[in-house]
Amino acid sequence: MFPAAAQAIVFDVVGTLVEPAPAVAEAYRAAALRHGIDHDVADIDRRFRAAWRRQEALDAAAVPPFATSGGRERERWRAIVADVFDAAPQRDTIFDDLWVHFGRPDAWRPIPAGRDLVRAARDAGLTVALASNFDERLFEIAPLIEPLSWADHVFASSELGWRKPAVEFFRTVERRLGRSPTELVLVGDDPELDIAAGRRAGWHVLPIG
Ligand SMILES: [Mg+2]
Repeated sequence: MFPAAAQAIVFDVVGTLVEPAPAVAEAYRAAALRHGIDHDVADIDRRFRAAWRRQEALDAAAVPPFATSGGRERERWRAIVADVFDAAPQRDTIFDDLWVHFGRPDAWRPIPAGRDLVRAARDAGLTVALASNFDERLFEIAPLIEPLSWADHVFASSELGWRKPAVEFFRTVERRLGRSPTELVLVGDDPELDIAAGRRAGWHVLPIG
């Protein structure tokens, strides 16, 4: 299942090992309703995707591209919420609610195929790491959700200083694990951020989802 040279299996988190439950657009709708805004869930979903792409484009155009920090990650989500709710006056309180919501373990549920792969990696005696574009909230929730809690190492972009697909993201993880690219496998659901980027960094890759 894993390449013979593999020493550590590095998992993307969202969409690979866990997914939001309820879905993102449902959680946004519920938070907005608490503040008196009633938006159609399909409309929220469409606006969320556009807002997310806008923030990715900003990071791609930055110098250097895809550098990040705790402040930048919080600003990303604040801007996305403002875009989704069209700069409504309640946007900052809705954002605060959602920031707390997605930082809670019960906002996430395990994805069985990902959980099976983590188990297989552990059974094979391989090091297991998480490497996510999620921010430092990941450190709080990872110990509380299976299979995230089975990982030996947790890396979050805001703390590494780089987001996927930056090659620096991968190089920093290599240094932290003390491994070379050919000893590492990236398992992920995103064709560009995980699979293409992992390949460019010289890692083995395993698409999932
Ligand atoms: Mg993902």
